[in-house]
Amino acid sequence: VNEEASAKAAAASADNGGPTIFDKIIAKEIPSTIVYEDDKVLAFRDINPQAPVHVLVIPKLRDGLTHLGKAELRHAEILGHLLCAAKIVAEKEGIVDGFRVVINNGPEACQSVYHLHLHILGGRQMKWPPG
Ligand code: C5P
Repeated sequence: VNEEASAKAAAASADNGGPTIFDKIIAKEIPSTIVYEDDKVLAFRDINPQAPVHVLVIPKLRDGLTHLGKAELRHAEILGHLLCAAKIVAEKEGIVDGFRVVINNGPEACQSVYHLHLHILGGRQMKWPPG
């Protein structure tokens, strides 16, 4: 029942193009535990971790990327940069031999924040298929 409720809550918060909580995290108006940062991306610990290591990697400039479904070729550089940052995070966190990178895209995938983000998960045995 809880899982159904959270899926419904996520579905209710679909892409409206407006600002998100991540803008405040980027602006450091609300605190986060930063794991990696450069001029283009920010990586910080998820507030509700689903594994011993759970880090989010986001572009500092959303540039229309509310979700991956909005990706265009002009985003290729930042998309590649996000994946490279994911690897750096995995190395820093000591999980390079086993980690998962997840992008939840849209309500059916339970996306809840409409600012593109990669979940980097590790530090435990992952299961397949994911829920
Ligand atoms: O993929 P999805 O949109 O569901 O992921 C959003 C993630 O952002 C969640 O894992 C949630 O815990 C995290 N979050 C956070 N800090 C906030 C708000 C959300 O780490 N202030």
